Amino acid sequence: MSCYKMINNGLNRILVHKYGGSSVSDAKKIANVAKRIASAYEAGFQMVAVCSAMGDTTDDLLDLASQVTTNPQPRELDLLLSTGELVSATLLAMAIAELGHPAISLSGIQAGIHTDEMYGKARIDNIETDRINKELNEGNIVIVAGFQGININDDVTTLGRGGSDTTAVALAAALRADRCEVYTDVDGIYTADPRIAKQARKITHIGYEEMLELACYGAKMHPRSIELGSVYNVPIYVASSFNDDPGTLIDSYVQEQTMENRIKVTGIAYQRNIAKITLRDVPDKPGLAGALFEPLTNDGISVDTIVQNTSADKLTDISFTIDKNDLPATLLTLEKITSVLGSGQLLSEENLAMVSIVGSGMQNTPGYASKMFTILAKGSINIDMITTSEIRISCIISEDKLEDAVQLLHQGFELDRVVN
Ligand code: ASP
Ligand code: MG
Repeated sequence: MSCYKMINNGLNRILVHKYGGSSVSDAKKIANVAKRIASAYEAGFQMVAVCSAMGDTTDDLLDLASQVTTNPQPRELDLLLSTGELVSATLLAMAIAELGHPAISLSGIQAGIHTDEMYGKARIDNIETDRINKELNEGNIVIVAGFQGININDDVTTLGRGGSDTTAVALAAALRADRCEVYTDVDGIYTADPRIAKQARKITHIGYEEMLELACYGAKMHPRSIELGSVYNVPIYVASSFNDDPGTLIDSYVQEQTMENRIKVTGIAYQRNIAKITLRDVPDKPGLAGALFEPLTNDGISVDTIVQNTSADKLTDISFTIDKNDLPATLLTLEKITSVLGSGQLLSEENLAMVSIVGSGMQNTPGYASKMFTILAKGSINIDMITTSEIRISCIISEDKLEDAVQLLHQGFELDRVVN
């Protein structure tokens, strides 16, 4: 790409590219990606590129597994899923060689990516970069299969769906790359999901924290990759692999705020597939919440919004939300411990969603929550639960009202106006 010509100054600077599944979904697209990597290499960068599996490969592999068994062994499932990224990585290395540049593909193991033992959602412990550095120093373009690593038993693990983003940012941190460029089928981060809010605008520059809230609540980037970027201060640039339009830069940016002209809400985020659990008549005594949530943590289930009601007669109701996919496992665990807890009924509800307004400018400024509730009320949207952080206000609502909620909030907070 021509934009690289200006950047390179002849030093051995490393750039990490990452290409999502839709950018490598067929041979033609792989050839296109090869060209993009080659032009950064021609501009003088040492290139590392991480790729996802081709198109829907990971879903297809999961589907295959489910046709063989309803209960695959986690080890086997991870090894199976890791093959998707091996296919795209090897093809990409071949396509680059076809352009006349030396390229080598590496599996997660070969790339020295060490993880913990949590199959299906492994976390990266450390990356031994010797092999990659050796290849780079020999002038090779290095293609790393995303989403995978190796655990202490020398078994292959995967990092969780969408985990290739995390592979890429972790590599950029470990290699001290200039930045990590993430190429996908969307050309950046928007004020809301453009498929839902037609007036959504592209955000040119955003801070890690705001991005983390947007990523956690729907916009397409693996949240763990943003967290890593923030900890290691890796600038992440998100853009399209299909054109050269400017994308979104994510770094430690904080919005400059003038006294009156502040862009307070940066974006609207959402998350589907939320389930709510309510435990009725839980004895209100110390240690209870720990006894309730610790077993869930041990099962790797992450609990989100938690609400505890005021107690009447020393009994209280506790509600919390989880990912809908974790509902069966959560119910199983809770059924085992409710007798120990001495609680009453266990209720669950599916088909919920969360909609959030996000913006660092909202900090210490009153009125945002009430404005949000009013906008939702005008749309006859009932709010089930509410949570807030310093830069986010979220409401749990019924999933069938989600699209209305996103549109109404985008309009109501005037995000459709071009402000920067
Ligand atoms: N192929 C994996 C998935 O679809 C990882 C990734 O795309 O980042 O979840
Ligand atoms: Mg994917």
